[in-house]
Amino acid sequence: MNRFENYINGEWVPAASGATFEDRNPADRDDLIGAFPKSDETDARRAAEAAKAAFPAWRDLSGAQRGTFLYKAADLLEKRLDEVARALTREEGKLLWESKGETQRGVVLLRYYANEGMHAIGEVLPSAMNPQTLLITKRVPLGAVGLITPWNFPVAIPIWKAAPALIYGNTVVLKPASLAPYTATLIAEIFHEAGFPAGVFNLVHGPGGSVGNAICTHPDISAISFTGSCEVGGKIAAMCAEHGKKYQLEMGGKNPVLVMEDADLDQAVKLTLSGAMRSAGHKCTATSRAIVVESVADEFTRKLKESAEALKAGPGLEATAMGEGPYLGPVVSEGQRESILQAVESAVRSGAKLVAGGKSLSGGDYDKGHYVAPTVLDEVKPDSTVAQEEVFGPVLAVIRVKDFDEAVRVANNVKFGLSASIFTRDLNKALAAADKLEAGLLRINGETAGVEPQAPFGGMKGSSSGSREQGQAAKEFFTQYKTIYFDRAGG
Ligand code: NAD
Repeated sequence: MNRFENYINGEWVPAASGATFEDRNPADRDDLIGAFPKSDETDARRAAEAAKAAFPAWRDLSGAQRGTFLYKAADLLEKRLDEVARALTREEGKLLWESKGETQRGVVLLRYYANEGMHAIGEVLPSAMNPQTLLITKRVPLGAVGLITPWNFPVAIPIWKAAPALIYGNTVVLKPASLAPYTATLIAEIFHEAGFPAGVFNLVHGPGGSVGNAICTHPDISAISFTGSCEVGGKIAAMCAEHGKKYQLEMGGKNPVLVMEDADLDQAVKLTLSGAMRSAGHKCTATSRAIVVESVADEFTRKLKESAEALKAGPGLEATAMGEGPYLGPVVSEGQRESILQAVESAVRSGAKLVAGGKSLSGGDYDKGHYVAPTVLDEVKPDSTVAQEEVFGPVLAVIRVKDFDEAVRVANNVKFGLSASIFTRDLNKALAAADKLEAGLLRINGETAGVEPQAPFGGMKGSSSGSREQGQAAKEFFTQYKTIYFDRAGG
């Protein structure tokens, strides 16, 4: 069996306790990817100390010097793109072409932030007190930062956090999700090969409850950037507040599409399904509610049912290009499959009508993995659990409403506010939706999922702690201002 290690202070090391956990392929439970260190507080402490010790020298390099390491990492990731994408599919289940796209995005993010090393990190302000005073601001790093990441984008998310953290002069301890340790290990290998100085980038595997907690409470860690569920995000916020750390939380969604009477229904059906079912619904920006005006609801749901039933699930490795092979892969784990099916059962009990799917898939390849049929529920009540809570699987709830105003009210009546879209040809409705929908990311005639790396990304309300990631927005979290007044000696 392959045994993998933590990466601490430039070295590959097992967990101090020697304990390990297994990682398996969700498309084939017999495919054991390997054993990974089941780390604990001791390993987290070592990584935090290494990151703290490496910080001053890393901070004191120029941005351009730090950028050369990121450029090298980008080149290496590009060279190993196929290998990393295959690992991602084997471990998380998404389609191979989706994994290639995600890995390519990692390359783009590394280059984008490498280039940031040449950009301005401050400004000159006029002094009101003394025209001779040189008054400047300078953005400086925070120190050693902890990055805690989920399993669903195990290449893109660690990189969209680590790349800005590093370019602005911070050092990093990454704690990836236990369902996706392999891709994180490959990223660490690439950072190692790129020659980052020892301690600048560290990787610690293991359970959130012990390793994650230890990172969030360790005095050597200055800040935490977290992506994951609202439940864990809440605990992290409390720990960071108690221990005086800056924090950033990006969490779940209950993302709606609004379908108006003048929508191009074929486009709306296609993009709603793509948003809901691609990647088996394992996207924080996945479409989980279709809020449809009554006058087109029957036609929309009929088309949705036909298209959903035609979607094929299968092993992600068989989908080498968009349009070839299965449309969606397995769900990530047996636990996730059970929780998805329970959510569907409870929706039906609460009065929703099952239009498509609603069951595990079995027979042939399906028996080897965890598959859920693309599921559509109609006549869902806006305040029922399935319309309020994240399911994180290929499940779409259709909610019928009278008109645009009711659609906006229903869309906003959830604790989340990550992404949303509207299908309409009416410019006024599109503009009103852009004003009124409570979401950090809005699409007009587009699907709720999918973001570009140069644009700020993050949610409103319960989906986020309010900051944004990616693009220039990342600078806000990973730096702090220093304001400096220079006056002449002698007055
Ligand atoms: P999760 O919250 O269960 O775990 C996320 C990470 O937190 C993991 O590394 C986990 O080990 C760690 N963790 C768990 N308990 C911890 C604790 N007590 N202290 C510190 N760390 C702890 O989430 P998940 O199941 O891995 O991912 C799915 C969730 O992530 C969904 O809710 C999804 O919407 C969300 N997500 C959000 C975004 C976004 O950008 N908004 C992107 C992707 C995923």
